[in-house]
Amino acid sequence: MRLLALVILILLAAAPWLPGIVDRLVNRTGAPAVPARATAQALHDSLWIADFHNDVLLWPRDLAVYGTYGHVDIPRLDAGGVDLAVFSVPTRHYLLSNYRRTPAVGDVMTLRAMASRWPRAAWLDPLPRARFMANRLDAAARASHGALLVIETREDLAALLERQARGEGVMGALLSLEGVHAAGREIASVDSLFAAGFRVFGITHLFDNDAGGSAHGWRKGGLTPFGRRVVARIDSLGGIIDLAHASRATIDDVLALTSRVVVSHTGLTSHCPGARNLDDERAVRIASRGGVLAIGFWKAAVCGDDVRDVARAIHHALTVAGDDHVALGSDFDGAVRAPFDAAHLAVLTDALLAEGLTRAQVRAVMGENAKRFLLSALPSRTR
Ligand SMILES: [Zn+2]
Repeated sequence: MRLLALVILILLAAAPWLPGIVDRLVNRTGAPAVPARATAQALHDSLWIADFHNDVLLWPRDLAVYGTYGHVDIPRLDAGGVDLAVFSVPTRHYLLSNYRRTPAVGDVMTLRAMASRWPRAAWLDPLPRARFMANRLDAAARASHGALLVIETREDLAALLERQARGEGVMGALLSLEGVHAAGREIASVDSLFAAGFRVFGITHLFDNDAGGSAHGWRKGGLTPFGRRVVARIDSLGGIIDLAHASRATIDDVLALTSRVVVSHTGLTSHCPGARNLDDERAVRIASRGGVLAIGFWKAAVCGDDVRDVARAIHHALTVAGDDHVALGSDFDGAVRAPFDAAHLAVLTDALLAEGLTRAQVRAVMGENAKRFLLSALPSRTR
């Protein structure tokens, strides 16, 4: 019976309509938000806005169409005033994934790849999966007729900023990898991922991999010797290390090797305890090295599912890490319930003002901190 149930499960999961249904079920949005007050909307409209983490490339959606479910697409990012979005690519997801202790067995992304008829090479291997999702972003950028521009260097970002300052309706997109297990055990694969446009590299996702321990992994160790080589290689290429999901030991090991780090979607345990969040000591250390903490919008990050909970978490992070080191890391479309979608980001500006942040702090958190960080952390074209 158990075998029959497993076969039925696999058949169901591999059905072409299933990823769309899962997408609708897991990427939920709270009740329609009360519109931002006029003064907050006016401030919001004047901001440069960046978000460090969405997972929309995983889902079978047309990025050019204003969606009726989920959180992110180009029209909704545009409606929310987003100027730069980081598109993250997870490449493995295990059956028993959880925040406490995830065993690295039973990769359900194989079913996902089969169901959506991804290229055969991507059914089992995470590297072609990463390339496939990177290609989806490139295709979306090409189809956008200039509305979406993939950023690879600080010069690209500077050029984007100039065009935006001239009033051109163009949004930047940055590619990020959720776990270097996509590289397998090959350093050369790190180079090929960089060549494919990836610029932000998470060490781990929800499980320990060959490079290092995850905060949600089985053993939660630090960087392995291979992991040290991976970090050194990413650093020499000019990539940015993302410490979201990394174990404490991995964070410590990475910080001993490089300061070019971001935590792309997180909360702080001193505000919201839990395995998904960062302790103050490491948050302060990352900030003191010039890194950025991007605060997520979902319950496990901010201990609530209201926009005011997100604002409180951001306010708290400012008191811990300082005004220059806090940013947005929504985790939109990351199989989370968010209080609002990308189109309604102005409600967060409103909630931050209501929380007592100054207009300068709101400006910094909503995008200026991310901008300053990326202008110095992204590789230069001439390197
Ligand atoms: Zn994540």
